[in-house]
Amino acid sequence: MQGRNLEDMVERQDAASPLADILRRYREEREIRLRTDSAGQYLQLKDPAADVTDSHKPSNNSRDLVDEDVEVVIVGCGWGGIVAGVELRKAGVENIRMIDKASGFGGVWSWNRYPGVACDTDAYIYMPLLEEMGVMPTANYVSGDEILAHATRVAHRFDLDQNALFETGVTEARWDEHAGRWTVSTDRGDVLRARFFMMAPGSLESPKVPNVPGIGSFLGKSFHSSRWDFEYTGGCSDGHLTNLRDKRVAVIGTGASAVQCIPHLGKWAKHLYVFQRTPSAIDWRDERPTDEAWYKSQERGWQMRRIQNYTSLVGLEPVEVDLVNDWWTKRQFAALQHLKPDMSGQEIGDILQAADIEAGEELRRRVSDIVHNPETAEGLKSWYQRYCKRPCFHDDYLQTFNLSNVTLVHTQGRGIERVTETGIVANDRHYPVDCIIYSTGFQLGAYADEPPVSLFGRDGISLSEKWRDGATTLHGFHIHGFPNFFLISIAQSAWGANLMHMLLEQGRHVAYIIAELMQRGVAVAEVSRTAEAAWVKHHEQLALNIAGVWENCTPSFFNNEGNMTLKALRSGPYGNGVGAFCHQLEQWRATGGLEGLELR
Ligand code: NDP
Repeated sequence: MQGRNLEDMVERQDAASPLADILRRYREEREIRLRTDSAGQYLQLKDPAADVTDSHKPSNNSRDLVDEDVEVVIVGCGWGGIVAGVELRKAGVENIRMIDKASGFGGVWSWNRYPGVACDTDAYIYMPLLEEMGVMPTANYVSGDEILAHATRVAHRFDLDQNALFETGVTEARWDEHAGRWTVSTDRGDVLRARFFMMAPGSLESPKVPNVPGIGSFLGKSFHSSRWDFEYTGGCSDGHLTNLRDKRVAVIGTGASAVQCIPHLGKWAKHLYVFQRTPSAIDWRDERPTDEAWYKSQERGWQMRRIQNYTSLVGLEPVEVDLVNDWWTKRQFAALQHLKPDMSGQEIGDILQAADIEAGEELRRRVSDIVHNPETAEGLKSWYQRYCKRPCFHDDYLQTFNLSNVTLVHTQGRGIERVTETGIVANDRHYPVDCIIYSTGFQLGAYADEPPVSLFGRDGISLSEKWRDGATTLHGFHIHGFPNFFLISIAQSAWGANLMHMLLEQGRHVAYIIAELMQRGVAVAEVSRTAEAAWVKHHEQLALNIAGVWENCTPSFFNNEGNMTLKALRSGPYGNGVGAFCHQLEQWRATGGLEGLELR
């Protein structure tokens, strides 16, 4: 449905057809959610005004200050940093220092320990290096704990953990032209002089809360879902929240995180109020333990084949077989069977649109089948195209709303109005509670006003200054004026349902370049102004082509809360998808010329 506008789609339908009704409803639901303050409706948790949490504060364990010269500094010990580190090790780079604010490896999986935390992406494609590590996931979808353990194991296996600096924030990185190195400073007072500086900050690293009156005034317990306080709730990421038995709990938000923790909260809280602004679409999950015989029968190279197959399917590229065959892929595979090579773009668009609407109808019927109270069921039905928001997968979530201690407070797109000392106001009513859990998501790094680290390149130019009107890169990695610097993010780089595919490719790519530079004895590499401008132009053209998709969508962090400005489009992901992006990088490497980089 590339670039097709919801208005055009409604108009193309017979006005009285059920399809037109549904599309009209999508449009109306989107319109009531559009706000003039878009992303400004949130405060980031690190903002002092948003101090709703006192858990998960760093322990500030004392350690010796680090003052050293190093080949590569990687900021970010999530999967992006880990797989880049692994690839560097494989390429023979020994002197690497990894740094993270968290207390260990794992990135989002290190912060998000909430009850029920799990990955909704097939474990056999999400958990990297399974063949190499000789690891078998326990099930087709695995818990956050299992992923975290895998991250730690991989980091250990490739010696990335030996000198990693945790609970350490990088405050500034500055290019020293004379020394040909980056000076990296941390909030602990460390100073590292790095030949190559890589940032892999993750896309969802900054939790946010609604900027509503009274935020911070609540006298009970409150925290963000990514900073869960098990001391207060009892239990662990498996559940057993026994301390909540006498507590009235509010959870704000019904995105992918909330969908996973709400069944546990419903089970244990004395009363649970779910404050919903927009319902998530809840698909089947069908979690199954791994069949060991099947797993062992996989032929060498199976994991990358499976990863590529999934990426193709989710990106609607024709494939012979659906290897993953879960609720992410089977709808795509079925829709693709109706496409013929000689079809026009319009015909393809119509077929995909009909399939998307049918999927929506099926999921709405699923809500009616499961949720007993008809009014609650209506409130839980989602009215937007499937990929406008993160699809959710759960086999207990909807059932939770049948419990007598669980109340859905559906705010019909308005959200909560206020927080008071004793509770929450929504739909003009005050709900007194003992505990508030903000499951209100994260600022998407690519659309943030400021980069996560103050970065100063050649001649002292700052990255925030350079990117005032949006990102400028080659392939998302290289920035003119910032020599020997590599960025691993989604800005002008790809973003897909299986983030791991992109991270693996990005890691491979930057490791290839660094290893080549070292082998060729290159001291400084910097993308040329021309190469950067060419990629920006290419990226912008694609971004403008798909701008219509974002415009159709109900607001979320995907589309900068419905405000896809040119700046956001520039800083957003590559418009041709992960498969095409990986192909571009492969071709670039195949030439062997490090094209676009100026080498000194
Ligand atoms: P989301 O941004 O998806 O959800 C935030 C929720 O808070 C939304 O329901 C939003 O409503 C709601 N909200 C925001 N402001 C208000 C308000 N003022 N009043 C009431 N509700 C409000 O964050 P999540 O943490 O749930 O998920 C973030 C991402 O993390 C996912 O998209 C996914 O990429 C990833 N994730 C992945 C998982 C996995 O399986 N791999 C599991 C969990 C998360 P509205 O929709 O109206 O904006």
